[in-house]
Amino acid sequence: QSLPYIRSISPYQPGKPITQLARDLGLPVDRIVKLASNENPLGMSPKAQAAVGVAIAGLSRYPDDFALKQALAERSGLGMERIVLGNGSNDVLDLVARVFLAPGRSAIFAQYAFAVYPLATISTGGEPIAVAASDYGHDLEAMLAAIRPNTRLIWIANPNNPTGTFLPYAQLKTFLQAVPSNIVVVLDEAYNEYLPPAERVDTTAWLARHGNLVITRTFSKIYGLAGLRIGYALCSAEIADLMNRVRQPFNCNNLALAAAVAALDDHEFVARSYALNRAGMEQIIAGLKRLACRHIPSHGNFLTFYVPEAAAVNQKLLSNGVIVRPIAAYGMPDWLRVTIGTESENSRFLEALEVSL
Ligand code: PMP
Repeated sequence: QSLPYIRSISPYQPGKPITQLARDLGLPVDRIVKLASNENPLGMSPKAQAAVGVAIAGLSRYPDDFALKQALAERSGLGMERIVLGNGSNDVLDLVARVFLAPGRSAIFAQYAFAVYPLATISTGGEPIAVAASDYGHDLEAMLAAIRPNTRLIWIANPNNPTGTFLPYAQLKTFLQAVPSNIVVVLDEAYNEYLPPAERVDTTAWLARHGNLVITRTFSKIYGLAGLRIGYALCSAEIADLMNRVRQPFNCNNLALAAAVAALDDHEFVARSYALNRAGMEQIIAGLKRLACRHIPSHGNFLTFYVPEAAAVNQKLLSNGVIVRPIAAYGMPDWLRVTIGTESENSRFLEALEVSL
């Protein structure tokens, strides 16, 4: 008999696969525009592609994660013993949950926060506490007030997915100071690299004062490696050690490790991806304005916009070969989330939206 709390989990719903829609519509796959999963529209870094080509020759060996840990250690100024690699950052989120949660313990996250937080929480038997949002983002005061004696984890995404909201660093710092040290705070920075460099604060510096902080990042977004599945956590050596105890050996594969090392150094690709996202964001905002659709200001590589009858509009977009993301599962049935694509993908999306409203 399965554990009752496992049955209460709503399975994660990914964006509709391109191949499936192409088959449904009888179209070649290259006619489909997929702006549903916050992927990089430029593909993967050319340096990472070259590194994968080389790494193929070593696939008979188990993965060696030394080079990536070393590169991340150099970049963050943290020792390698404070870095945990994951099969996507979802994997490290899951590791944190397994280390700190169990039946009888609770975890706090914001309403409309990333779907993996309740999923990872409930799969340990932990109790999920969703705190009402403020302006679609995190209400840190309310999250503090929601702390119970059995709370062991707080999940925060900054910027948040699917709403794109951003918490000013000063607020986050005050929050961290107020959270009791026996509660781990996960600061999920999957979209960190899309923030303007002048606005970005190096949150890894906070780790020195907050032994209960776990920062997570990913190679799936600006580095364009979503399909390789690689992400990481930066935290205290003690928490990293605990996570490594439950981590599957060799959870990151050779190709992903090699690609990630190369992608970290591909500054030109990151800069190009950043600039494309800025321009595309403006293009989509202007297009949505023309169509009188309001949106939530976004700090990521996606935009969430309001459309009554979102499910029907989504169906029409699909029939026009455009895949976006309905977010009814987040309790936002009147909203759709669109990933910022290339200029031509954004235009295809806006044209399809115009005839779908
Ligand atoms: N955190 C947030 C906020 C995300 O939006 C995503 C991607 N959807 C992830 C983590 C996980 O990404 P990945 O597992 O590909 O690293």
